[in-house]
Amino acid sequence: MEPSPAELEKIYSQYTDAELVHIATRSAHHLRPEALAVIRAMLRARQVDEAVFQGIDAAVQPVDEARVQEQVALIRSLPCPECGNRSAPLNAVLASRAISFVVMTSYDRTPYIGCVPCLERRRTKATLTSALAGWWGFPWGPVRTIQALVQNQGQKSALRSSAPSDVLVAFVVENTGKIEAYKGRPQELVTMITAPL
Ligand SMILES: [Zn+2]
Repeated sequence: MEPSPAELEKIYSQYTDAELVHIATRSAHHLRPEALAVIRAMLRARQVDEAVFQGIDAAVQPVDEARVQEQVALIRSLPCPECGNRSAPLNAVLASRAISFVVMTSYDRTPYIGCVPCLERRRTKATLTSALAGWWGFPWGPVRTIQALVQNQGQKSALRSSAPSDVLVAFVVENTGKIEAYKGRPQELVTMITAPL
């Protein structure tokens, strides 16, 4: 049975403001309208920033190209989350990594946002890790390793360009509601684009 609004209220009251903003902006499409209404009312009662409600609206609306462009420019204007550099617009790459353990090969692709030198380091590191640790698994090691090396090589041209990469635009589209909610709070945005260690 689905929880009633009163039960939802009880559940959501245990979350912090930031957690509720995250749920409402990142999972808006998966929430029932009643659940979203409960979260909105709770955030109203907690007197959060008005921009948060604009963010929730943005998350449930169809993608607005003008807003995406504005948000891409905003994200690019932030200091690099890795080194603090703010002399050039930020960009994003997908770093692909293959690591093998005898019969097992893991393959992951992680998006990173940062200044070009930091992204170049991330990309090189993923390539080196794959080149050193990717091959040994059977049968997928060599396949995944080549896949990672090709992918990382492909990201090189994205980094040479002054235009925002597809990875960055995709990140913004996916996070449009949350970026809208925190557009006046650069520190929150920097936290958002910081890669997990
Ligand atoms: Zn940097």
